[in-house]
Amino acid sequence: MIQLDAGEEQKYRERTPRSRELLARTKQLIPTGHGGGMWYQLPYPVLLERAKGCWIWDVDGNRYLDLRIGDWVLIHGHCDDRIRDAIVAQLDRGLQFGAPDWDLSYRMASLLVERMPSVEKVRFFVSGTETNQFAIRLARVHTGRTKIAKALGSYHGIADQLVVGTSTISIAPDKVPAGVLPRIADEVVEFPYNDPDGMEEVLEREGKDVAAVLIEPVMGAAGMIDASTEFLRRLREVTARLDIVLIFDEVVTFPVAFGGAQAYHGVTPDLTTMSKAIGGGLPLAAVGGRAEIMDLLDPDLHGGVAPVAAASTFGGNQASLAAGIACLELLTPELHARVQAIGDRARSGIDGLGSRYGVPLHASGIGHLFGMHWAPERVVDYRTRMLDDREKLANIVLALMNEGYYQMSFGYFLLSAAIGEEEIDGFLAALERALHTLELVGSG
Ligand code: PMP
Repeated sequence: MIQLDAGEEQKYRERTPRSRELLARTKQLIPTGHGGGMWYQLPYPVLLERAKGCWIWDVDGNRYLDLRIGDWVLIHGHCDDRIRDAIVAQLDRGLQFGAPDWDLSYRMASLLVERMPSVEKVRFFVSGTETNQFAIRLARVHTGRTKIAKALGSYHGIADQLVVGTSTISIAPDKVPAGVLPRIADEVVEFPYNDPDGMEEVLEREGKDVAAVLIEPVMGAAGMIDASTEFLRRLREVTARLDIVLIFDEVVTFPVAFGGAQAYHGVTPDLTTMSKAIGGGLPLAAVGGRAEIMDLLDPDLHGGVAPVAAASTFGGNQASLAAGIACLELLTPELHARVQAIGDRARSGIDGLGSRYGVPLHASGIGHLFGMHWAPERVVDYRTRMLDDREKLANIVLALMNEGYYQMSFGYFLLSAAIGEEEIDGFLAALERALHTLELVGSG
């Protein structure tokens, strides 16, 4: 049970009475009060009313710098005019065809193929969960094997086979969450993250039954823990040797660089799953990869019956594609470089505060993703993440909320391209003040 700092909690309650009141009303109809997304903001979430660029306003009129970007989606910030115009133009041409179109899907596919090294062909869906399930199915058919392997502490979505295993977020304290069939866990193998030898040992042992390895190049929900290039390279070597399909889950990491984390590290998987940012704020997801595997979807290549059938009513929705195309056209190599530099400024600022005050505060992440940790060892995997002092982190985030910096209580953050150096310097100054207010540091 996390104990909140009494002074900061009182301040939060005083600043957000209307959020509290409206949340109570909403909860009469919606069990947790939030209709979508994931939630964990202590002592209770603020309710948002409007947003523009890097700023959001809650129902009490408080303004925050948005470091959560629409549940990890809005790489260009809120209500970007160019994305807005693309959506508005599409409203008069057709919102949802649920059928092949000659223009939008082709353009969106081209934008993905040209920047994602692993992607030769693509198919659209709606959510990250859907794409990961689908990529696994393709891998099973391609290899004739059944098991999947994933990293300890990873998160790949809410489907049964994705939620079994060791989780750092509180989906379930158990390896098999309530309502999931225990036998599903028999088909899931786990290996340690960022540990090339440990991973290789597990895959050597289990490999002959493993269809796919599913990996986040940055473990997002686990705390924005970035993989080392060495680890991903070894994973590529081992999976190639054992004929396992390597799936990069780039649902979150797609915007870390032009070409995603695979381009950043120079490691090319067989399949890639993408969602969140690629829809420019509307729901869109995609599975892409080697033509040989993606062609399992094509009946024409298989005597009229595709080995793997794909269906997703809203997959490739026209408004989402229009927004996604506008979003990707704005995601130039220059823009990625600028966001990476702002991210580095945040990460080195956090590390700097840790060393200046001699406390175990440090940062993780790449690109627009950064985690804040308070642990005796640098957080690089599930084991070290469990060493994090979650109470201190939740209190730091609470104090940052009171200073006008918006995030959940876990201690991780996302930048949009609308955020500049000035905002990050403000964030770092607020963090330093929070460390003092919470009496987590001496005079330094
Ligand atoms: N993969 C990763 C890495 C994620 O972080 C998430 C959700 N945060 C998902 C998949 C699932 O995406 P969705 O919620 O759209 O199903």
